[in-house]
Amino acid sequence: MTRLIFLGPPGAGKGTQAKALAEHLNIPHISTGEILRQALQDQTPLGIKAQSYMDRGELVPDILVQEMVQERLNQPDAQHGWILDGFPRTVNQAVFLEKLLVKLDQSGEMVVSLEVPDDVVVARLLARGRKDDSEDVIRRRLEVYRFETAPLINHYHEQQKLLKVNGNQSLEEVTTELELAIAS
Ligand code: ADP
Repeated sequence: MTRLIFLGPPGAGKGTQAKALAEHLNIPHISTGEILRQALQDQTPLGIKAQSYMDRGELVPDILVQEMVQERLNQPDAQHGWILDGFPRTVNQAVFLEKLLVKLDQSGEMVVSLEVPDDVVVARLLARGRKDDSEDVIRRRLEVYRFETAPLINHYHEQQKLLKVNGNQSLEEVTTELELAIAS
């Protein structure tokens, strides 16, 4: 059973790799960013609450994303494994997730850290051109990543759940290294 958390700065290629691997393994790819963008587009109560944070490159409040993830992991298709992309993003969210997984009897998760240097990340994000990809917002997202999310790498390393993958190579090379890492 594969339960994987993808960690990495915005622009690391997490989404692309996570999606391809999930398809290959026939398990759901759960991207909190994607769920939030869909909610925003549909103007659901969640989307309306999340919008101003996302537009500024800030994190959406824990309580909102946590509820969203809890609901998603309860779905039938999540009972046979999953890849989480974009969650957890804070130590607080990680602690929440650990308890949730115990409660749902879904523990045994591993964490992939996609490592990419800052300058590469900025260049990739500027080229991507999503609505929240303006230079100021990108800078803020990277700051938030450094202060809020990067500490999770050490957190998971200490729990011996961490697999490091070099994200600064071609898509195919990253995929190959990733497949080797999760097979070991
Ligand atoms: P990126 O890959 O560029 O980091 P995502 O698609 O993962 O972007 O997320 C886009 C935005 O959605 C984030 O900037 C943030 O506002 C919000 N978001 C996504 N996941 C979370 C989370 N776990 N906690 C708080 N906010 C989140």
